[in-house]
Amino acid sequence: MSTAQIGVVPSFIAGQWQNHEAHDGTQVLDANTGELLATVTSERLDVAAAVHHGRTVGQRSLSALTLHERALKLKELAMYLNERRPELYELSYRTGATKIDSMVDIDGGIGVLFTFSSKGRRELPNANVILDGPSEQLSKDGSFLGTHVFTPLAGVAVQVNAFNFPVWGMLEKFAPAFIAGVPSIVKPATPTGYVAEAVVRLMLDSGILPEGSLQLLSGSARDILDHLDYRDMLAFTGSAATANRLKSHPNVVEGGVRFTSETDSLNAAILGPDAVEGTAEFDAFVKAVVTEMTVKAGQKCTAIRRSIVPQALVEPVIAAVSERLEQRVVLGDPRVEGVTMGALASLDQLRDVRAAVEDMLAAGGEIAYGRLDAPAVRVAPEKDAVAERGAFMSPLVLRWDDPQNPVVHSREAFGPVSSVIGYDSLEQAVELAAMGSGSLVATVCTNDAEVMRELTVGIAAHHGRVHILNRETARSSTGHGSPVPHLVHGGPGRAGGGEELGGIRSVKHHMQRTAVQGSPNMLTSLTGVWHTGADQRLAGCERFGGQSQNVHPFRKSLAELSIGDGFASDLREVTLQDISDFATSTGDTFYAHTQQEAAAANPFFPGIVAHGYLLVSWAAGLFVEPAPGPVLANYGLENLRFITPVAAGDSIRVTLTAKKITPRVTDEYGEVAWDAILHNQNDEIVATYDVLTLVEKKDETYANFGQ
Ligand code: NAP
Repeated sequence: MSTAQIGVVPSFIAGQWQNHEAHDGTQVLDANTGELLATVTSERLDVAAAVHHGRTVGQRSLSALTLHERALKLKELAMYLNERRPELYELSYRTGATKIDSMVDIDGGIGVLFTFSSKGRRELPNANVILDGPSEQLSKDGSFLGTHVFTPLAGVAVQVNAFNFPVWGMLEKFAPAFIAGVPSIVKPATPTGYVAEAVVRLMLDSGILPEGSLQLLSGSARDILDHLDYRDMLAFTGSAATANRLKSHPNVVEGGVRFTSETDSLNAAILGPDAVEGTAEFDAFVKAVVTEMTVKAGQKCTAIRRSIVPQALVEPVIAAVSERLEQRVVLGDPRVEGVTMGALASLDQLRDVRAAVEDMLAAGGEIAYGRLDAPAVRVAPEKDAVAERGAFMSPLVLRWDDPQNPVVHSREAFGPVSSVIGYDSLEQAVELAAMGSGSLVATVCTNDAEVMRELTVGIAAHHGRVHILNRETARSSTGHGSPVPHLVHGGPGRAGGGEELGGIRSVKHHMQRTAVQGSPNMLTSLTGVWHTGADQRLAGCERFGGQSQNVHPFRKSLAELSIGDGFASDLREVTLQDISDFATSTGDTFYAHTQQEAAAANPFFPGIVAHGYLLVSWAAGLFVEPAPGPVLANYGLENLRFITPVAAGDSIRVTLTAKKITPRVTDEYGEVAWDAILHNQNDEIVATYDVLTLVEKKDETYANFGQ
């Protein structure tokens, strides 16, 4: 088995790889063989230079790109890394990770880049400022508005990561920081930092990243916080003890460094009383517990540490979990055929986990399955598969007579260790889950909707995520232990209180929300979104603000169209016949459109009124410019509200204004959202909505049409 040495793990600071001499550095061993693999310097790294480079060069190069351009780069990066996974797997094996574990880390990390890339381009504007919510009218005449905007933090995002997921843990923080436009300084954990270094090297070699957007500190870097101030943020993943030390640093307490942490967590899985042996839920529960114990040899912040099951099911659950462990687990070097669970990441880690288990046994826990001194499960037959100096450990299931024993709810054994405790009532199950003092995730496993509701509502405030498992999701669930980049990852209390992985909210987490007040024109100009009251250049009916010299906005490509361009129609009168024809042709004969007496009795209507959809359809007819042109398609409406009813004899008119223009980075067209407002003959607002269209960047396809 190849155990080639990596040498000194370098840092990447201010655009340079730095190979510190590491005579007295920390030695990193192959987790499976115990052989020396790499050395990590314990010399002082030039953190100040990294921070300065990020705040200057990194900030500048990132701000030259829009949110969409940065998001697109993440996709390019993901594709680049995807092709280079095999070399990363080879390194990952040395951390004790099996192929499946490595895929969770490496493929999972790359998947995070893909997800953030597509969510970023779908859910954010192609700009540098994000508008947060609707504007508020602050003066009677509408000339003074207030709104909120997000802009990138002015400093750096320092990311201190745990050893268990060197790739995914890094990329889940890097992706949102990068889209937000904040340079990252990554500080991986020493035992597996060589895998993170390999990924950073690939990312930099790809040539995709703007200068200064990613730097790496390989080494202890204990003085990181000394160099940060209120412009910067530090996102920490690791033990609660380290988090507590870091967050009490004066630069956090007094200096305003934004600090978030994802720390350890005694996650629970609760089995409902209905989920007895023989049910699909019982089987799914046992499977989940075994998966969480064995993937990454249980070194997962989200692993199930506490199975909370009805008293009568304690022994059946222990028996079933033990049987599955016996059948499924083959311990050994992950490079050996047939191995399903590898070593812990280091001998230190093995010592820590054993010490934690010893504490738990001393406090009243009892080993129901496994052995602390030697592997109880099958060991891969090949010689040296479980080398003497490897960090191998048997999975252990612990039984507790007293479910309230504080140690089962507080001592984290960060390895293949899980406890089973019994409950007498749902109320007690909730109490027991909450005794974890705040966790990342809990599974609620039941097919009884009442039980699910009581448990989920009861435990939600103590958890960042609740995973509801029953026969309907047993096959399709992404699993208890897998945070997904779309949803919050983090949890209250002991789990650290962070939400660093959680869709677009984690991008905004790297930005400052600022309230901005000003005129509609100024807010339009700042945000790139047309605000009511701002200037318009309307074509169409002069009576309602149109100017004959203005070109119809549907004749303009994205290159020619500006925010505020629009069209004002003339009035069109609605007759009873129109309403009745629409009712007949659509089949929508709801009484308000067909029966005078019943309609008049309705508190909202004066009598028969026009269908809202008739008015929206008419509006399209009033504003359309029908000849082929740069407008390619209408792909929807948003925020449609009907405000004033329209009766026979009333008239409507429409004003359409280009509100938001979003060119797509990858296509020859982009999206235009149009503010549409319908008025009646008395200038009362009948309806408001946004019309969504796709418009060519340049008017080429149809340039010669009809000539
Ligand atoms: P750790 O010992 O707390 O170390 C975490 C990181 O902090 C490492 O990069 C470490 O660097 C660094 N560090 C330690 N002291 C520091 C200091 N004074 N200043 C700056 N950096 C410092 O945790 P770990 O053993 O790596 O990770 C295991 C723990 O992490 C478990 O408790 C697990 O539950 C938790 N975890 C939580 C999550 C989550 O999302 N909530 C995810 C994964 C892991 P060195 O390695 O160089 O010391």
